[in-house]
Amino acid sequence: MSTRAYAAQNAKSPLGPFTCQRRDPRATDVEIDILYCGVCHSDLHQTRDEWHDFAPTAYPCVPGHEIVGRVSKVGKDVTKFKVGDIAAVGCMVDSCRTCESCAKGLEQYCTSFPTLTYNGQDKISGGVTYGGYSERVVVDEAFTLKVSDKLNLAATAPLLCAGITTYSPLKHWGAGPGTKVGIVGLGGLGHMGVKFARALGAHVVLFTTSPGKVEDGKRLGAHEVVVSKNADGMKAQAASFDFVLDAVSAEHDINAYLSLLKLDGTLCLVGAPEKPLPVAAFNLLMPRRSFAGSGIGGIAETQEMLDFCAERGITSDVEVIPIHKINEAYDRLLKGDVKYRFVIDMASLKA
Ligand code: NAP
Ligand code: ZN
Ligand code: ZN
Repeated sequence: MSTRAYAAQNAKSPLGPFTCQRRDPRATDVEIDILYCGVCHSDLHQTRDEWHDFAPTAYPCVPGHEIVGRVSKVGKDVTKFKVGDIAAVGCMVDSCRTCESCAKGLEQYCTSFPTLTYNGQDKISGGVTYGGYSERVVVDEAFTLKVSDKLNLAATAPLLCAGITTYSPLKHWGAGPGTKVGIVGLGGLGHMGVKFARALGAHVVLFTTSPGKVEDGKRLGAHEVVVSKNADGMKAQAASFDFVLDAVSAEHDINAYLSLLKLDGTLCLVGAPEKPLPVAAFNLLMPRRSFAGSGIGGIAETQEMLDFCAERGITSDVEVIPIHKINEAYDRLLKGDVKYRFVIDMASLKA
């Protein structure tokens, strides 16, 4: 079906109107009329082809992987939803479903690589997958999520990427009572990291380059906020963390954050800057520190995170925009000028 969308035509072009095709729902497919789609910094990296060596961009590129909408059609074998229900889709729409990772519910680490929601290889219709900056999406129900109607839907959309990408490593590395956790960068991911680390019971320290975000950091749940340009403030935190989650989108000195770890502490990168980050060996060797990474989260864990959010009333702090403001939003994202996630109101696409 012909579907209105917004796309980048090349790495330098602003996003603009585009029409893509969605398949007719198969027996296990759900068709979702998209209400809201979050704006992830990955959308900006990908549309500008900043990850060229790892994941080159196929154009036209329709980004968007923080999708919440209303079910408009269901295939005959769908059990999770009926027409009219609220449904959500995150960063993946399929995987091989049989490899060791998929069998463990870690579809994001599928050994054949998951089918990403956009810029992925569409195994069913052929060509490339198109994301959530669009009117509707058709997804196998196995890759859809249920969202509580208790939560504000616009503020829920970012949970589908920023939420799960921070929840998953915090859980994996045991953030909780008695642990000291650092969150680096107060953006879309970082602000969810602060909320989750606090909700899980850790002592939370936010590291930000922006003095203007100190008060917000505390309001969002950080026990302490350190402006990372302040050398004394950084020194006072040295070698004291069990876990640090780095959600920075650009080049920065990773060694400053490795130095924060105590014995057997882990620094986990979720930020995906365009260029490599040099690591000084002795920052790892002494005292036996680990440098790790983490990618989004599996479908079961994403549902667990959404249920946790519904129970605790956790959502994103969002600024809702019409789709024609998307290029301005990207410019503001680059300047760190968003509190703390842009979300597109998809009704503006039909206006
Ligand atoms: P965002 O909202 O733009 O936040 C990034 C934050 O990083 C900024 O708010 C800023 O925080 C800090 N920052 C920006 N430039 C910096 C610089 N030059 N030096 C130091 N700090 C800087 O981005 P996001 O949507 O949260 O995404 C963050 C990164 O995670 C992106 O690279 C994105 O692609 C990646 N990502 C990865 C996954 C995954 O699966 N691992 C999933 C989603 C996104 P302060 O102002 O507080 O310093
Ligand atoms: Zn994302
Ligand atoms: Zn697999």
